[in-house]
Amino acid sequence: MTSFVFAPPPAPSVAIEGTEQRFPVHRIYCVGRNYADHVREMGGDPKRQAPIFFSKPADALVASGAAVPYPPRTANFHHEIELVVALGRGGKSIGREHALEHVFGYAVGNDFTRRDLQHGARSAGQPWDTSKGFDHSAAVSAIRPASRVAALSGRIWLAVNGTLRQQADIAEMIWNVPEIIAELSTLFELAPGDLLYTGTPAGVGALERGDRVTGGIEGIGTLENTIV
Ligand code: MN
Repeated sequence: MTSFVFAPPPAPSVAIEGTEQRFPVHRIYCVGRNYADHVREMGGDPKRQAPIFFSKPADALVASGAAVPYPPRTANFHHEIELVVALGRGGKSIGREHALEHVFGYAVGNDFTRRDLQHGARSAGQPWDTSKGFDHSAAVSAIRPASRVAALSGRIWLAVNGTLRQQADIAEMIWNVPEIIAELSTLFELAPGDLLYTGTPAGVGALERGDRVTGGIEGIGTLENTIV
């Protein structure tokens, strides 16, 4: 038995629909700039800028129904509703044609963002860690097993206090799910337990303490959190 100098941190995990068993999380990878309308609202040009990857720590996860503390060091805290892909098999240099064989299931996620820190980092050519990878920044619903997800298309939406803010179809993604898995697996060896946040459509905006944030993806699930 390994002996630790203090208790090791709890292993992050996500609920799975229809079972008491949980999905153990290895890493959280995220795609930025993956819907053209969102690239444009951020001041970019989707024809000239390919999507990009960044990551969040696995212990930034927040379950649906949990309170999300308004984070420190920001005055512009944003929601980003996203399709989340949960990998059940790893690999490197995975071909697009086999990519979906690596998927365990799908969930609804919120890629919470300190937008002011992100804009500051972008202007200064600095990394995104402080704007994206902070505590409680990765909300996620229960995972729906891939066998029960009929299609990678359907309405994605987010509302704040009942008012619709984001709405699109996940089929509008610039890089689709097989393309994301194939591309990411040339940069990192993917592992069972990896979560992939696949980018947000247009309509991102600021949240305040007390806001009730709801969202969903048709055929996949719903997500609800309150900012405190
Ligand atoms: Mn995002």
